Amino acid sequence: MQASSFTESLPRRVVVREMGLRDGLQSVATVVPTAAKLEWIRAAYEAGQREIEVGSFVPPRLLPQLADTGEVLAFAQTLPGLRATVLVPNMKGAERAMDAHAEMMLLPLSASHAHSLANLRKAPDEVVAEIGRIRAERDARGVRTAIEVGISTAFGCTIQGRVEPEEVVRLVQAVLDAGVDAVSLADTVGYADPAMVSRLFERVLRVAGDRLVCGHFHDTRGLGLANVFAAMQLGIARFDACIAGIGGCPHAPGASGNVSTEDLTYMLHSMGVETGLEFDRLLALRARVVQWLQGEPTHGTIWKAGLPKTMKEALHA
Ligand SMILES: [Zn+2]
Repeated sequence: MQASSFTESLPRRVVVREMGLRDGLQSVATVVPTAAKLEWIRAAYEAGQREIEVGSFVPPRLLPQLADTGEVLAFAQTLPGLRATVLVPNMKGAERAMDAHAEMMLLPLSASHAHSLANLRKAPDEVVAEIGRIRAERDARGVRTAIEVGISTAFGCTIQGRVEPEEVVRLVQAVLDAGVDAVSLADTVGYADPAMVSRLFERVLRVAGDRLVCGHFHDTRGLGLANVFAAMQLGIARFDACIAGIGGCPHAPGASGNVSTEDLTYMLHSMGVETGLEFDRLLALRARVVQWLQGEPTHGTIWKAGLPKTMKEALHA
């Protein structure tokens, strides 16, 4: 790829973190059997994925789709070099993640007060306080489970509407002060555009530096990949994605899934950015996931059109 001032600031390598088994499955009604999830993880691993969020430690009555997270995590931990992560909404979930020696737990923190109450029945500052207690519990146990806080609804919220950037920056500072290892910014409901992404990531980078590790964009209004590119220009080199673009958010009506893993991978490869992923294997996995989720909405475009001729020739040169 020819370098230009526009592209030379981009990271050379990007990690595509798979969210399909958690963010995806949590908002589809179909319960995927555990055996299929294990097949899914093995296929994703064989396609080169090395960071996979395998589920969520929430009460099974709330999310029966993710009731087998413990078993799924245990399997993922047998694959060498795979960073298997889990979402935990509270101390109880964090204890389960630490009991299981998860490599990383992702704690959601809504920048929207209204979303926070709807999702966790706690105000954002109460969640910050609990995150501090989780950090203290980790220290007391002497375990290694890393803590990442995902700031959700960072660009706006379907319930509350506007979310002030100042509030996002304040919460990032608060959780860093509480001792978390990393933060990420999530456009949970697809309100962001690339200019908003540039502005907010720039502000949060000033506070968090290299502890701002990931962008999480939903493609609700078709701007997911543009938003990824805007964050890449600021050096962000890890993005969440769901195979087949599945999912949404149960407390954000109308939200469609994350950017699709295969479309994101296509964009990155086309720009000459390394991912370590094998495109054909991702498409094969996509087809199986669509089968497991028969009747559920799926997204993405590259599977319909296929790779451009120019890229296929380059692949087989
Ligand atoms: Zn999400």
